[in-house]
Order: sequence, then C-alpha cells, then structure tokens
Amino acid sequence: MSALIERLRAICGPAHVLTHDDPATDLSAWEQDWRKRSRGRALAVVRPGSTAKVADVVKSCAAHGTSIVPQGGNTGLVVGSVPDDSGTQVVLSLARMNAVRAIDPDNLTMTVEAGCILQNLQETVEKAGFLFPLSLAAEGSCTIGGNLGTNAGGTQVLRYGNARDLCLGLEVVTAQGEVWHGLTGLRKDNTGYDLRHLMIGSEGTLGIITAATMKLYPLPAATLTAWAAVPSMQAAVQLLGLAHTRLGPGLTGFEVMGQFALSLADKHYPQLRVPLFKETPWCVLLENSDSENEAHARQQFEALLEAAMEAGCVTDAVVAENIAQARGLWHIRESIPLAQAEEGLNIKHDISIPVSRIPAFVAETDALLQREIPGVRLVDFGHLGDGNLHYNVQAPEGADGPAFLREWEARVNTLVFDQVARFDGSISAEHGVGELKAHKLPRYKDATALAMMRAIKQALDPHNLLNPGKVLAASAPS
Ligand SMILES: Cc1cc2nc3c(=O)[nH]c(=O)nc-3n(C[C@H](O)[C@H](O)[C@H](O)COP(=O)(O)OP(=O)(O)OC[C@H]3O[C@@H](n4cnc5c(N)ncnc54)[C@H](O)[C@@H]3O)c2cc1C
Repeated sequence: MSALIERLRAICGPAHVLTHDDPATDLSAWEQDWRKRSRGRALAVVRPGSTAKVADVVKSCAAHGTSIVPQGGNTGLVVGSVPDDSGTQVVLSLARMNAVRAIDPDNLTMTVEAGCILQNLQETVEKAGFLFPLSLAAEGSCTIGGNLGTNAGGTQVLRYGNARDLCLGLEVVTAQGEVWHGLTGLRKDNTGYDLRHLMIGSEGTLGIITAATMKLYPLPAATLTAWAAVPSMQAAVQLLGLAHTRLGPGLTGFEVMGQFALSLADKHYPQLRVPLFKETPWCVLLENSDSENEAHARQQFEALLEAAMEAGCVTDAVVAENIAQARGLWHIRESIPLAQAEEGLNIKHDISIPVSRIPAFVAETDALLQREIPGVRLVDFGHLGDGNLHYNVQAPEGADGPAFLREWEARVNTLVFDQVARFDGSISAEHGVGELKAHKLPRYKDATALAMMRAIKQALDPHNLLNPGKVLAASAPS
C-alpha cells in the first residue's frame, strides 16, 4: 500500500478510503459521469467527514503531488466530477459532510455542509416555514457543494437567481490545505475582492467548498402552475413579457418546450399525459407564486392568459387545479432529458442568448442544421425566462446513435456554438465547462478574460492539484 493511501486511511478511517486493491470494491459510481461520456480510474475515493479532515487530505495529497477531483452527487453534465484514466487522481467525495449547521430565521439564512442533498435542504427548511428556491431535476441526488461548484441554475432563476445569488458565505479548503472561514450571513460586505464569487462556478479548480451560508425566503401563500400552447417562439417571448408585467415578482417559472421534446416525453412515458402539444409547435409552463392567497393567484393567472389569448400569443391553456396536477405538469418538463436519453444518444447544448434574440437564433440554427443533416430532430426546451435553451440535436429516425455522434458531433458543436457567438450568447448557460467544453473556451471566450482566469488559477493553485484539466485545458486546441 502506498504511503499516501496509508496516510489517507489514518485521516479518514479505513472504511472511507476506497481503492481498486480490493477487487470486491466497485468504484464506478465515482468514476463514471452521469451522462456516461467518460469513465476514469481513481487512485482512491476518499470520504472525509469534517472540514479539518478535508484540509488534512488536501495537505497529504499536495505533499505527494497527487491531484484531487472534488465530487458531490456526481450529477454534473460536463465531465467535471470524475477522474481522468491515469489511476493517479484522488476523488474527494463530500457526501459524508451533510449536516445542517444552523438555520437563522431572523437573518433568513441557513448554514449547511457541502454534501447536503439539495432536496433534503428544501424539505428541511420547508418544515421550518421557509423556501429554499434552488430547484433542478437532479435535486434528489445533487449536493449544495456541487450546486455552488457549478453555479447551478434550474427552474426558479428568473425570480431568485442562480446558486451564486443565493449564497452569502462559504467555508473553503484551499489548494494548500488551509481553511478559509467565510461563513458570514452578511448581505453587505465591501471589504475587498469577493472571493466567494471566485469559488462559485469554479468547478472544484480553485478550492473545495466544505460549507455554505445560503439565503432563505418566506414560503409563498400559494403557488399555481399553468400550461399554455403558443404558436411560435416569438409568441413565447411575447407571453414572457406579459407575464413579467402582470405577475411581477410572482412569476417564478417560465419554461418552454418544443413539440418534438414533448413527443419524446409522451412516447417514453405515456402515463404522464402531456397536454396540448399535438397541435402546437411550442408549449410553455408558467408558475405564479403569490404572497396573498390562492384565489388571488388564480385570478391573476386567468387575467394573464385571457390577455395573452387576445394578443394571439396563446392559443389554448390549462391552469392546474391542485398541487398534484401542478406536480404532474412539472414532472413532464423534468422528464424531457430522461425521455431524450431513452430515445438514444444526442448532441447536447446548454446555451444562453439574450431573450429578445432567441426566436431568430432558433429559426436560423434549425434551418442550418436541417440543411446540413436531412431528417435531424431538434429537442429544444429550457428556461426561456433566463434566455437559457437546452438545444439538443438528435439523430434522424432510425439512425445509429453512436455512428451519428462519431460523424457529426464536432461539426454540429461548431455550427451551434458559432451561431451562439454570432448572437452574443454563451456556450454554457448553467452546466459549466468541465472537461467536455474546456477546449472550446479559447475559441469562444474573450482572450483577456481567459488570461485572467489562468492567472487566478496559477495564483491559487500553482501546482495544478485541484481538478486539473477541467475548465482550463492544459493545451489550447480548437
Ligand atoms: C437530470 C439532470 C438535470 C439537471 N438540471 C440542471 C438544471 O436545471 N440546472 C443546472 O444548472 N444544472 C442541472 N444539472 C446539472 C447540475 O450541474 C448538477 O446537477 C449539480 O449542480 C451538480 O451537483 P453535484 O453535487 O452532483 O456535483 P458533481 O457532479 O459531483 O460536481 C460538479 C462539479 O462541481 C465540483 N464540485 C462538487 N462538489 C464540490 C465542492 N464541495 N467544492 C468545490 N467543487 C465541487 C466538481 O469537481 C465538478 O466540477 C442537471 C443534471 C441532471 C443529471
């Protein structure tokens, strides 16, 4: 056994250091990414149970020149949380650090450890009468550390912002194994550079988040969900404008879904009963969270939908009658990525474009792709309220998925990302860069910004021990 493994076992306890030495131990849950795009091989999976132990693990790995891949729920979509195939990297799982350290009702904050599962946090604070609004389809498995590591978005961003906007303080273990105690619950603190914002979204390349202080909100008095058929993407944008005006801060969700995306949900999960999608190119899911009561929320929603029908931007709509129906509608939206996976391999893009330019982007890019690949199927859906589209490209009906990816992935990515750049968008709206898109940054990121990012990485992690090869590629091709 190597001296490092022995040391890690002494720090964490033998049960919490897993290696391939024991043939009965299966490390695939930590080595395989969620989309099954990449399977690495770890030297060890280490699961420390406290911040002090994380710091000791980092110091020991640094002393041996061993790099570390921080991991939460391993639900990331850009190959950021798994090791490379060298067999030399340590996966540092935060899963055992899952305590809620404090809830401060008057300050409207909670302080929680990085390994807390997002859904558990939502449920814990709801019992205490509060809302933690970060919400995404992976919430049953992803952790708050991973959410902050990727600056996750999700379905409530247009009202409450990204994970970044919900975070007031962090506790972080640095690449040198020092602990930065930054768990303030302050909404104002202008004492220099805001290191919190450097760490958030850095995908484990600048430090290891061990705990965070997050904002809470009062629970809304009523939350209503509606589903509307809209005749075009332009009409969806018009509906968004009307919804902002009429619902104000009550507008907490605005998701758009293309007909083909919904047809996949209908095909693979017929029990979901997808409404209204057969006769319309797009459907929109809207959520209204009201601080008064349900009758007020319903009356606001009905007035909005009536005005939208008069303006011609909605052709038909349903408002959920109860919580079960509302959950059913959200479940349809959340099932699209899974239905898409059932249908076969596809080329995914998580992009953002200024909302006003999305209709032109979709029309032009759809046409370009259809000209290039006759019969190609486009799975468009996303958080239109944030200008964020999941613009995914599925092989023509009956085509061989792996062969399609081999032949087309690089070409399709370039075509879509060049279009994104032309429309002043971003090639990663919410999933991050990871290893998957690291080689794309030199082409699509401002050169000065990229140079500043490299300088920051060099200053904070000069030996490149934290998640090397993620976000910033070693070399800079394409
Ligand atoms: C079905 C599905 C739906 C999704 N929907 C959305 C969505 O709507 N919006 C969205 O933004 N994302 C979405 N995602 C992806 C999203 O990024 C992750 O689900 C989540 O934020 C990652 O959390 P995790 O705990 O699984 O992190 P992991 O996957 O384990 O890690 C993700 C990254 O963060 C780093 N990291 C993890 N923990 C820490 C830590 N404690 N300190 C520092 N770095 C750390 C890792 O090294 C890695 O680079 C979805 C994923 C799935 C599977």
